[in-house]
Amino acid sequence: MTALADLLLRRIRLSGPLTIADYMSDCLLHPDHGYYTTRPPFGAEGDFITGPEISQMFGELLGLCLAQAWQDQGAPAAFALAELGPGRGTLMADLLRATRGVPGFHAAARVVLIEASPALRARQQATLTPHPVQWADSIDALPEVPLFLLANEFFDALPIRQFQRHAEGWQERLVGERDGGLAFGLSSATRMAALEHRLADTVPGDIVETCAPAQAIVADIAQRIDRFGGAALLIDYGDWHSRGDTLQALRRHAFGDPLAEPGEADLTAHVDFEALAQAAAPCTATGPVPQGVLLERLGITARAQALAGRMTGAALTAHIAAHRRLTHPEEMGQLFKALALHPRRAPPPPGF
Ligand code: SAH
Repeated sequence: MTALADLLLRRIRLSGPLTIADYMSDCLLHPDHGYYTTRPPFGAEGDFITGPEISQMFGELLGLCLAQAWQDQGAPAAFALAELGPGRGTLMADLLRATRGVPGFHAAARVVLIEASPALRARQQATLTPHPVQWADSIDALPEVPLFLLANEFFDALPIRQFQRHAEGWQERLVGERDGGLAFGLSSATRMAALEHRLADTVPGDIVETCAPAQAIVADIAQRIDRFGGAALLIDYGDWHSRGDTLQALRRHAFGDPLAEPGEADLTAHVDFEALAQAAAPCTATGPVPQGVLLERLGITARAQALAGRMTGAALTAHIAAHRRLTHPEEMGQLFKALALHPRRAPPPPGF
């Protein structure tokens, strides 16, 4: 049993079952035992691999997309270039390299990273040195200037709650104790005003998920962009209008039981893009566009060919596989999607 499992079981005995959101928060960000606070989880050696870690093309093209959106809004002379959950800092590094030739972009950009894990902040600093960067704890703490923001595989890590439809209302899925170990259970049924709109598309037994922190963060981003200008590219896996249990644990590139090794496996849930888009008022939300379609529209094939011209052997084979992995519908091309937020009066970023 992991140290965190022990700690959670003691807490459950003292004060009762946990919501899945509480369980997820501790598994990911507990100061001593959290998954993101205790290890570098990314890359081929880690538990999962993300777009920017697959190929430099990912960050380059999204960076140029954001730079074009900046130009389309009159190239404001001072803006926040922000990223939510930057991981190792790879995406921002590729973005900065690709946008060096965009006149005035670097001079106007203040790079601000929003990252909860101290270990990953240190890692981001190492990746991005000597480029000046600062960290912030929330969207509220960003400078009051136009905001151009990226988030890749950030929203899937935010804590969700699950509710199972019952004849008498909804039962919350909780994490409790059974036979000395962690086990899922259900609360008693109650009517829930916040889930009234899900009565039309569910039957008793169905599970729906909510992610209040995701909606609150999107609302904060949208307020900023509406007030100061800017754009946000939110990329993640999920669908429009989620249904069913999507909580998953990933360890060493394999799926497992979310309760088996708290703190040792990455826990995520699919992102409901409908809920994100609804939280984006007063901005316009355009998309979601499948990742493969977006990258093709941004020119990934031409970029891949240019890079391939300088490669041979194993490097070339890996490069071709990376291009396929990012764009092919059977790999990340269809499951991953991008939603763009922008002011109503501004055009959507290129590719949307
Ligand atoms: N964007 C990166 C990493 C994705 S993993 C990539 O594509 O490779 C999720 C990232 O979000 C990690 O950096 C994690 O530490 C961070 N994170 C998770 N929950 C967070 C929260 N509530 N606030 C800020 N950062 C968070």
